[in-house]
Amino acid sequence: MDERIGQCGCGRLKIRVRGEPLGVARCHCDFCQKHTGSAFRLSSFFAEDQVLEITGQPRVYNGLEIDGVGIADSVERGVAYHFCGTCGSTVYWVWEPGRGVYGIAVGSFVDPDFPPPTMEVWTELRHRWVPPIPDAVAHKHLPDV
Ligand SMILES: [Zn+2]
Ligand SMILES: [Zn+2]
Repeated sequence: MDERIGQCGCGRLKIRVRGEPLGVARCHCDFCQKHTGSAFRLSSFFAEDQVLEITGQPRVYNGLEIDGVGIADSVERGVAYHFCGTCGSTVYWVWEPGRGVYGIAVGSFVDPDFPPPTMEVWTELRHRWVPPIPDAVAHKHLPDV
């Protein structure tokens, strides 16, 4: 499949990408659990030039911006999450300053054939019933960069 479209729950916010993701990761951290309302976040990463089109008018949540209320001491700071103002789904995110990479929620593609995660982080907070992903590199917290 050469192109994929990720979209929010109501379909107003869409991102169209070309080619395979640079990587796929599952994060079990505190922020991802709260932000997604799920036991973990599934993220895919695409280079900026793989992003063909974004349609809709996203709202942006960036912990750094809002009245001094942010994600204290979290590495998630500096990430601008783009979400649909109508249905609330977070569809994609970018780093500030830019890294030339987009994070896109794997769930936004609704594709059972989407490549599986090759990495998982914050396994210390992984729910006990969630099995490790075969062949994925697992980090108890975040990997050293
Ligand atoms: Zn929506
Ligand atoms: Zn996380």
